[in-house]
Amino acid sequence: MNLRIALIAHDGKKSDMVSFILNNQAFLKEASLFATGTTGSKIEEEGFKVIKLLSGPLGGDAQIATMVATGDVDMVIFFRDPLDRHPHEPDVQMLMRQCDVHNVPLATNPKAAHYLLRGIESVFN
Ligand code: PGA
Repeated sequence: MNLRIALIAHDGKKSDMVSFILNNQAFLKEASLFATGTTGSKIEEEGFKVIKLLSGPLGGDAQIATMVATGDVDMVIFFRDPLDRHPHEPDVQMLMRQCDVHNVPLATNPKAAHYLLRGIESVFN
């Protein structure tokens, strides 16, 4: 199983993303990881291999939306911050829409992501 997983976290949720990847190291180190720029740098700092795209506000979410549309990503974990404003909100909406258009699993908070990974593990183990 070589899962391709996209990871994105808004600024207010980056520490949640770091906790999440550390809590799921065994699983995530077997996967191919993609991330928006700043999220990707945080992930790298923790010793993971990750392909970094543009920063979210500069088009990173749009790049991941394209990967979803073209079948190049299997799952999106996107820790959104609902309490902050984002200049790239249209890109965020586009990404979530593309996940629904193409039936790609999307988790938008840590608990959902936790259960998503456990579900995938139970399917593949
Ligand atoms: P960032 O982008 O990882 O470059 O901060 C995330 C986002 O804001 O969508």
